[in-house]
Amino acid sequence: EEVLLKQTCVPPACEEKPLAAEAARPVQIVLTDDEEHRFELDEGALESVLMQEHVRDLDVVVVSVAGAFRKGKSFLLDFMLRYVYNQESSFWLGKDNDPLTGFTWRGGCERETTGIQVWSEVFVVDKPDGSKVAVLLVDTQGAFDSQSTIKDCATVFALSTMTSSVQVSTCHNNLLTKMELFTEYGRLAMEEIYKKPFQKLMFLIRDWSYPYEHPYGLEGGKRFLEKRLQVKQNQHEELQNVRKHIHSCFSNISCFLLPHPGLKVATNPCFDGRLRDIDDDFKKELENLVPLLLSPENLVVKEIGGAKVTCRDLVQYFKAYIKIYQG
Ligand code: GDP
Ligand code: MG
Repeated sequence: EEVLLKQTCVPPACEEKPLAAEAARPVQIVLTDDEEHRFELDEGALESVLMQEHVRDLDVVVVSVAGAFRKGKSFLLDFMLRYVYNQESSFWLGKDNDPLTGFTWRGGCERETTGIQVWSEVFVVDKPDGSKVAVLLVDTQGAFDSQSTIKDCATVFALSTMTSSVQVSTCHNNLLTKMELFTEYGRLAMEEIYKKPFQKLMFLIRDWSYPYEHPYGLEGGKRFLEKRLQVKQNQHEELQNVRKHIHSCFSNISCFLLPHPGLKVATNPCFDGRLRDIDDDFKKELENLVPLLLSPENLVVKEIGGAKVTCRDLVQYFKAYIKIYQG
C-alpha cells in the first residue's frame, strides 16, 4: 500500500518552473473558443516565431502532429525535439534517465487547449543539396468530444493541413473514422486552395498489436493502408468517395505502425518520459520514425500552388486562411 501511495504524483505547481523569456517553448498561435465556436490567430505570437531575422526569408518546412487529446502528440513531438537538438550525438534518443521535456513541459499546469501550438525555436537545417531550410514543429489539437462540433475540429485540422508540408495524424485502428474527418476538412480546405494537392500525410497508428499480421513501421503500415484504402465494388458509395478523395488531396500518403510504449507510459501517473520506462520495441520504431520526418534529406519544404513558401510568406497565409473560417 505504501508503494502505491508513493506512486500517486501531484503535478508540479506552475510557479516552480518560471519560463525564462528566451527559453524555447510551445507558443499558442491559433486558439479556439469552444463555446462560441470561433477561431483566433495570435498574429503577434506567430510573427514572434516566424519573423525572427535568421529564419524569415528561408523556405519553411512545417511538420505538424495532429490528433485528439491524450493521443501522444506531445510525447512524439518531444522526441522530435530530441532528434533536432541532439543532431551531433550518435544516440539522439537520449539517456535512460532523462525526463522528456518540450511540448509536455508545462503539461500539468495548463488547461488543455484546442488549437495550434508551434515550437518557438525555428530550426535551420542544411539540406544535402546545399540549401538552408527553416523547420517549424507544430502541435495541432482537436477535441473529438461533445464539447466541440465536428466542424470545429475539421476547421482546426483544415488550417493545419493548409499550412503544413508534413502532417502526422495520430490515431488508433480507427483509420476510417479518421478518414471521414479528413475528407470533411480536406473539403473545407480544398475549396480554398483551388484543388492543389497537399503534400505529405502520415497516419501514425499507435498501439499496433498485430505485428504478425503487418509488421511495425513503414512497410507494415503501407500494407495496412493499402488494404484500408482499397476501393471495392461492394463498398458503400460514401466510403468509396472518402477513399478516392483522400488520394486526390495529398501527393504522398503513408502509414506507420507504432507498437505500444509499455504499461509505465500508458498508466503510471509519475511517468515523465524517461527512456528506461519505455518498451524496447517502441524505442526501436521511434528511431526509425523520427528521421523519416526530420532527417535533412527527408525534409519537405512547404509549397502552395506549386511555389515554395518562406517563413515570412507563411505568416501571410495564416492570416488569409484564418479569415476564411472566421466568417
Ligand atoms: P497529447 O494530448 O496528444 O499531446 O498526448 P500526450 O503526449 O500528452 O500523451 C498522453 C498520454 O499518453 C501520456 O500519459 C503518455 O505517456 C501516453 N502515451 C504517449 N504515447 C503513447 C502511445 O503510443 N500509446 C499509449 N498507449 N500511450 C501513449
Ligand atoms: Mg499535448
